[in-house]
Amino acid sequence: MKTINKSLDGLHSMLVNKEISCTELTKAFIKQMHCCEPRIQAFLATSEDTALMRAAEVDKKIANNESIGPLEGLPAGLKDNICMQGIPTTCGSHMLESFISLYDATVTKRLKDAGAIVLGKLNLDEFAMGSTTESSAFHPTYNPWDLERVPGGSSGGSAAAVSACEVAYSLGSDTGGSIRQPASFCGVVGLKPTYGRVSRYGVVAVASSLDQVGILSKTVRDNAQVLNAIAGYDPQDSTSITANIPDYTQFLENNVKGLKIGVPKEFFSQELTTDKAEVINKALETLEQLGAEIEECSLPHMKYAMAAYYIIAMAEASSELACFDGVRYGHRAEANDMIEMFKNTRAEGFGQEVKRRIMLGTYVLSSGHYEDYYLKAQKVRTLIKEDFNQVFSKYDALLGPTNPQTAPKIGESSDPLAVYLEDIFTIPANLAGLPALSIPAGFVQGLPFGMQLIGKHFDEGLLYRIAYTFEQNTDHHHQVPVLLREVN
Ligand code: GLN
Repeated sequence: MKTINKSLDGLHSMLVNKEISCTELTKAFIKQMHCCEPRIQAFLATSEDTALMRAAEVDKKIANNESIGPLEGLPAGLKDNICMQGIPTTCGSHMLESFISLYDATVTKRLKDAGAIVLGKLNLDEFAMGSTTESSAFHPTYNPWDLERVPGGSSGGSAAAVSACEVAYSLGSDTGGSIRQPASFCGVVGLKPTYGRVSRYGVVAVASSLDQVGILSKTVRDNAQVLNAIAGYDPQDSTSITANIPDYTQFLENNVKGLKIGVPKEFFSQELTTDKAEVINKALETLEQLGAEIEECSLPHMKYAMAAYYIIAMAEASSELACFDGVRYGHRAEANDMIEMFKNTRAEGFGQEVKRRIMLGTYVLSSGHYEDYYLKAQKVRTLIKEDFNQVFSKYDALLGPTNPQTAPKIGESSDPLAVYLEDIFTIPANLAGLPALSIPAGFVQGLPFGMQLIGKHFDEGLLYRIAYTFEQNTDHHHQVPVLLREVN
């Protein structure tokens, strides 16, 4: 366990210094996975043989004294809505249970090009709709900090696998908080990059104007190293942006002097209990002592963000998921005629939450309701973007809690509306396309609790700098989940 519970740099230097071979390292992660999986269930599919084959190739390079990159030979996991050639991409749904991807998503390809070793595909709420990973059609995932609790969602498998040290880092997707919220619940770092910064090609869409691929990692530096590998223009994704990609590790200075951090007062609403507000206030004090200027600010339209998000996300989902009709992909139901085949396929293939969203999404787009719901939600989206423009004319970044809650118990989140409401702090960044980063801020009753930094478009580097400074001056990220203390 000591061998693998290291930063990417730590693992890389063990390989380079020949303290361990890549095959041994890969086997150590596989062993950890076998130890933890019976209790965590973060994976939906594993690719151990391919992983070991790739490890042998890296060993050959090392033996020939060829240089290896910072991610080369290190094990990663992919959320199971990110395609990887030759293995299943199920999206946590019976609809795609038998679907094997014919190609790599751009992010998968970029990781492979960087020499990463993919250990497998990670569990998620069905089609990334949810906040607990309980809506996966296959099984829930359990939180390594407390096996009676959820890891969050929808990238719950991606967060749990990193937290349990089954992989060195993972990729997830974030439409309304699905990277940041599970990162907060599992005590890891989670970045949702600026919209357009990372290609979505080969990632199954749930709401294209909100979806973004991002990274879950143990440390801020690890996160920056992975962003270096996956960020950048991709002609295959029409929403991908041509802006220059800096080396994100150059931003990792232990210094926040003079930076202006705004704290939106709406993040301290009644949803946030005192013990959780205290964790965030303490983090703010730490940053202030380190030289940042902290000031309260306001995002006045945030109160409408939840309603706008769910209207837009459901409207887009209803349209994105129209392609799952039994003709093109995945499941096809038995039927007497074509219409019955469409109906039965969708009735059998999709779970309850997906059906709820397709129906509501179709409703808000239907003639007569379009203007009242969808169009209004788009106008609110513009107002929220303007709120951010306003505050960013004064502040370098914003800070608040990632989520009002710590991880709930399995089975506790049965009221969909109550669960939707808890996304309130994460969805504004998706609506405005802004980068946002969740890092461990402290603990509430023994459970990890994350804080969120939101930045200007393309300002991931500055978020990393603030987060890195906080990380260097606190020790929350050194804490180890209960499960790791037990299995080793
Ligand atoms: N919990 C949010 C939802 O269910 C976020 C989903 C996501 O980011 N993929 O819509």
